[in-house]
Amino acid sequence: KSVPLDNIEVWTPTAAGSEKSKYPRNEKLDKKISLYSGDITQLEIDAIVNAANNSLLGGGGVDGAIHRTAGPLLKKECASLHGCETGEAKITCAYGLPAKYVIHTVGPIAQGGVGEVQKKDLRSCYRNSLQTATANDARSVAFPCISTGIYGYPPEQAVHEALAIVREYLEEHHDKLDRVIFCVFMPTDRELYLQNLPLYFPAA
Ligand code: ADP
Repeated sequence: KSVPLDNIEVWTPTAAGSEKSKYPRNEKLDKKISLYSGDITQLEIDAIVNAANNSLLGGGGVDGAIHRTAGPLLKKECASLHGCETGEAKITCAYGLPAKYVIHTVGPIAQGGVGEVQKKDLRSCYRNSLQTATANDARSVAFPCISTGIYGYPPEQAVHEALAIVREYLEEHHDKLDRVIFCVFMPTDRELYLQNLPLYFPAA
């Protein structure tokens, strides 16, 4: 079963937390944001982002789910790309998935802790994925919580990098994107996004 873009609710700015925001309200940008709880492989949108590994040949977590639903042709196309550097992004077709494209990005491994390198690499993942989307005329993009699973990046830190880069990118390129969807799989991640979205997309 697939979930069309029209069924993905647009985020409504909430007053709670907005007072701590360093950004001004921007209603045009607010309408481009969604927080979606569920399986990213079901989204019928232009592009879903995969939290892949350097080989691009598939792995566990969201990567495993994407490859399972897409089918073997995805792995075949990925194999032709010769891997991907951490922080970079590469695009493929989506095969059996309802999305049009998969953008594969490789998050930093943060099991040894988060330093400047991990932070910079995570920000690059979001920025390069958005750039890859717009370069391919993909106007709706969904992100999983990159690096916060097996790669061990603390979710309460990663959420800030994700939201800051999306805010920054949308301010510069709002004409090129209709929707950026934060796809959360765990209730704890949903809470983190609900808590922090008003800091980056405030109500006033
Ligand atoms: P990484 O190796 O980058 O940490 P993981 O796949 O282990 O990647 O985890 C990244 C995030 O993806 C986690 O928050 C995990 O809960 C989430 N996730 C796992 N499966 C799915 C799915 N089918 N759809 C969306 N998110 C998922």
